Order: sequence, then C-alpha cells, then structure tokens
Amino acid sequence: MKQSFYDLTYSDLESVIHQNNLNDSVASVLFNWHYKKKATVPCVDKIAKGAAAFFESNFDFALPEIDIVQESSNDRTVKFLFKLKDNHKVETVLIPFHNKYSICLSSQVGCAMNCSFCFTGTQGLKRNLTTSEIVGQFIQAWRWLAANRPGEERILNIVFMGQGEPLHNFDAVKKACEIFLSKHGTSIGIQKITISTAGYIPGLKRWSEEIPGVNLALSLHSPFEDKRNELIPINRKYPLAEVLAMIDQIHLNKKQFVTYEYILIKDFNDSTEDATKLGELLVGKSAYINLIPFNAFPGSQYQSPAVDKITQFKATLDTFKIPTLIRTAKGDDVLAACGQLNSRVGV
Ligand code: SAH
Repeated sequence: MKQSFYDLTYSDLESVIHQNNLNDSVASVLFNWHYKKKATVPCVDKIAKGAAAFFESNFDFALPEIDIVQESSNDRTVKFLFKLKDNHKVETVLIPFHNKYSICLSSQVGCAMNCSFCFTGTQGLKRNLTTSEIVGQFIQAWRWLAANRPGEERILNIVFMGQGEPLHNFDAVKKACEIFLSKHGTSIGIQKITISTAGYIPGLKRWSEEIPGVNLALSLHSPFEDKRNELIPINRKYPLAEVLAMIDQIHLNKKQFVTYEYILIKDFNDSTEDATKLGELLVGKSAYINLIPFNAFPGSQYQSPAVDKITQFKATLDTFKIPTLIRTAKGDDVLAACGQLNSRVGV
C-alpha cells in the first residue's frame, strides 16, 4: 500500500527527496501546493516530470471523504462526518466567529477514556487516527468552506477537542502539529493550536518535552479527587494532584496560559463549595477557566444547571481573580457541541 503524502512532515519530505536524488526545491513546491493552495489534484507541472512521476507512483494523495455535512441554523457551525478508508467515521466541527473559524479536530476513532459525561466515550476506542487523517480533516474542511462559503476559508485556530484523547495518540498528533506549523504550508502560529487532555500523564510528559509552545487545555471538571474519579476514570490512575503538579513544571511563554475546562453539571459539581475549591486550586497559576454548561446527548444521565447557578459559580471564581469564561454551546442543534460527537450515530 502506498504511503500517504499527508503523513510526511516537511523534514520527512526532505529526507525522501534526498534519498531519491530529487531536486531540493521539490519539498517547498509540494508543501506549498498541497498545504497552502490546498489543491485537489497532485502537483505535476510545477516540478520536474521525473519528480512528479516518483510522487505519483509512490504516494497516495487521497484524504478522508466528507460523508455528511450538517450546518447549524442557529450560528453557522458546521459539522462534518468523515469516512475513512476502512469505513470508520470521525467528526470534525468548524466553529465560527466573525466569518473566521476555529476547527475542532478528532484524534481517534472513539476514545478509551470513557468519561461519564461524554458521548464519544460510549463508543469505546476503535483505533488511533493517522497523521494524514488528522491533517486531512483540516484540508477538507477548508476546501468545503472555499466551495460553499467563498471568502470565508479562514481557519485561524486549531483545537484538538473532537473525538479522542489526543495525548493518547501522541505521535500522530505531534506530526500533525508539525505540519500545521510549517512555514512552507499552512503556517499556523504555534499559539493558535490547543491540545485538550483528560489528564493522561505519559502524554503530558512527552508534550512538555517535545511540543512546548502548543497550548494546553486540561479537562478538570471537579477539584475533588473522588468526584473526578466518577467523571473521568483515568483519574484513578493519574490523580488530579499529580496532573496539576506535572502541568506546573511545564515552561510557559510569557503570555501563555493553561486553559482549565470545567463542565457544569446540575447538583453534581455546581455548588459554591465546588467553585471555592476550584479557585483555591488554580489561584496564582497562569490559568484561564472555561465553564461549559453540560451538553445533553441521547441517553445522557446529567443535566445542565440553571442560568443563575452558572452565573453564581462564575462570581465565586471571580473573587479569586482567575479569568473565567462561560462558553455558550455552539451547534448543539446538530449535536456538534462539546461532548456530543459520536460517529457511530453520525446525526
Ligand atoms: N479527550 C480530550 C479532548 C476531547 S473533549 C479531553 O478530555 O480534554 C473536549 C472537551 O469537551 C473536554 O473538555 C470535555 O470534557 C468536554 N465535554 C465532553 N463531554 C461534554 C458534554 N456532554 N458537555 C460539555 N462538555 C463536554
């Protein structure tokens, strides 16, 4: 089977080119063609015939196919269901703000974390995505925008908050980040990429050593170990205290902060006591809190708190002077909001 072109980082591509005695300039031409232009056909007339023939016969340029597109009628959120070569499916979401978009990428088919509040977890883990399947979600979403909302093909932020635990598929996610960052291609700024984790410590260790500068988000959800155990089963193996200690050791750039995500669940983690403990835990850190009212999905056992309860929770955090944002659900009419992705259902 041919290797996917989209699995190659720029330096991988350079090695292929050297090993096969092709002209050095081919690397930048190909990255420009496939990542900057996002051309739908292989590059043939911009490089020597021999080089073009070499890439055509040794590399696969196919990308995950768009199976279903759902556009939210509330807020222009777009959800894609992609069909992979082995017929597995994953979802990707474009989240709009002022005619620009953030893209929420999936990193695995399903997820092994089995968090009690997350729809993806009910699928179990099927497999890791490859780098080309991760990068492919971005390119295909961009092409869809160019064709369907011309002039709006501006995807400025990348968040690994779709299906899967990105740090559990470290190698492929790291390579995808390297490709996104490449100046020869999409040239996304390092501060525009965020990886969200449930707190998988082996991945966090590698993250801090191998891709510093990429932003980190931790799904915190409860400051109490026993409650967090109930929500996020891997907390039993990698307790919050150890995760936070690990994060504290990570060197952050001057203006960089860690995002702590907190799902608000009615009568479970929405009390003043929860907010106070959360504030005590994070005060003094370079922290930013995202409060996410729980998003329901078919069969879910939790509910979102009433609005005044949410405002009260934020007010308690404000006394600690930690920047806190209440994140409104986008695209929930098409099950595209946080925790609603489940490609088995694909609705
Ligand atoms: N595995 C990674 C990334 C995927 S989840 C992680 O755990 O961070 C992306 C975000 O959506 C996480 O903060 C997750 O906790 C949140 N989320 C999951 N299910 C949700 C739900 N039903 N309602 C609101 N947010 C949810």
